[in-house]
Amino acid sequence: MSIDAPQFQTTAPSDGEVIASFPIMTPEEVSAAVDRARIAAHWWAELGFDGRKTRLLAWKSLLARRAEQLAWLVHREGGKPVEDALLEIALSIEHLDWAAKNAEKILGERGVRPSLLTMNQRARLWYEPMGVVGVIGPWNYPVFTPVGSVGYALAAGNAVVFKPSEYTTAVGQWMVDSFAQVVPEQPVVQLITGQGATGAALCTSGVDKISFTGSTATGRKVMAAAAQNLTPVVLELGGKDAFIVDADANIEKAVDAALFGAMGNAGQTCVAVERVYVHDAIYDQFLDRLASRARELHPGNEATSSYGPMTMPAQIATIREHVDHAIACGGRAIVGGPESIGESVVGPIVLADVPESCPAVTDETFGPTVVVNRIRDLSDGIDKANANHYGLGASLFGKDRKALMEAARRLRTGMVSINSWVMYAGVPALPWGGVGVSGFGRIHGPDGLREFARSKGVVSERFPSPLVLTSFSRRPDTSAIISKALVALHGRRKWTS
Ligand code: NAD
Repeated sequence: MSIDAPQFQTTAPSDGEVIASFPIMTPEEVSAAVDRARIAAHWWAELGFDGRKTRLLAWKSLLARRAEQLAWLVHREGGKPVEDALLEIALSIEHLDWAAKNAEKILGERGVRPSLLTMNQRARLWYEPMGVVGVIGPWNYPVFTPVGSVGYALAAGNAVVFKPSEYTTAVGQWMVDSFAQVVPEQPVVQLITGQGATGAALCTSGVDKISFTGSTATGRKVMAAAAQNLTPVVLELGGKDAFIVDADANIEKAVDAALFGAMGNAGQTCVAVERVYVHDAIYDQFLDRLASRARELHPGNEATSSYGPMTMPAQIATIREHVDHAIACGGRAIVGGPESIGESVVGPIVLADVPESCPAVTDETFGPTVVVNRIRDLSDGIDKANANHYGLGASLFGKDRKALMEAARRLRTGMVSINSWVMYAGVPALPWGGVGVSGFGRIHGPDGLREFARSKGVVSERFPSPLVLTSFSRRPDTSAIISKALVALHGRRKWTS
């Protein structure tokens, strides 16, 4: 790469200080990275589950030892408070640990039972690495989101070419450099840097899978680009999560969770609480309490602020549009309002009784704002929650466990948290992903490992079958025997309506 290659800079959202400069990589440079990754992928796959586990656990240890250093960089480059950055890193470490330790159990070779007609076969199943996985990440959780793909793809035996967000590239570089310290032999994880065009080049580079985390609008472009080579994709996209509070919920606990879920990280969380639906019987009490807790928040640029500035300035226009529209169509601003929207820091905004058709209810706002609307009962809350094209996560608060589990089943989302917000993210064995325009495919857990692997099935004959099925010299009575066997084995169940 020439030294006069075009560059871009990342800057601190708090004071505009330049954090670092990076080259805007061309499609040729992306291709070269993928070529290097192919060789590295072979070497990495050959290490086997044990060899990879040792190295991934060493990376995990390094991350744990340097977590504070990384948290400060996340804070400077992305703007979130240091404690929130540490929490994100802690969750990432737990996932890395789980993926490393469980890959062999989930993906390793095992026997499966043949059927009666194939009793003479030994049947084996295993999951092979795909090769090179391209990971494209967002800026809002610059450690947690890539680790959910990179860690699981590595554990499954793939090499990774990683394109972090142009807003948090220094964090991406830190992650890739730290991996190279533990695995210096081959470029198993490479960084590519640039904006959307560099990400687009990765989608058509011939990688074996694309794992994309970002907005729904970009997800559509990624899928269209990947279609050129029929590259499979996993898409982790936006959300408009609902938080449903039943009449018997512990109000204080629900308010606490809703507030953090809505305002934490300045609302820049894909599974942020954006819509709160509260049972009519406790609506006023809940809203009063939420409002008074929201007024206590102190957002700002400090490492210890409740939440930080908006990472991506362009988001401020969306927040303004949603808030203005909500008020214009009859919503009430209970805490803050249009005047809370500063140049980089947005004060907490609590809106109430906003018509369900407003963008503040239908579209992702991605800011420290929340809509609190009234519901008749749990069922009404579920209907309202489901009447949205997004379907990522949801939260339910109440006492009746059976009713809440039933509600969780009815919610059209990939994840649900009962009497807490987002705790599914902290259980590595659970899958992460959405439905509808929130995307498809899964990271995390066994599904997340399989997402980055190809299943292979193999049969091997143990003894010659008395009944040869696939031959032109079948016995003349073979079909008759099969017909009788079919009735005996499968034909005895009578249909009763
Ligand atoms: P974004 O879509 O603007 O960008 C994401 C990444 O895609 C960046 O690295 C960007 O450079 C790259 N990109 C842009 N154009 C591209 C193209 N044409 N081809 C390939 N790559 C391209 O999203 P963002 O603003 O960084 O992140 C915020 C969004 O991400 C929100 O919608 C949020 O809900 C979503 N998100 C989802 C999850 C999840 O797990 N579902 C997690 C975090 C964030």
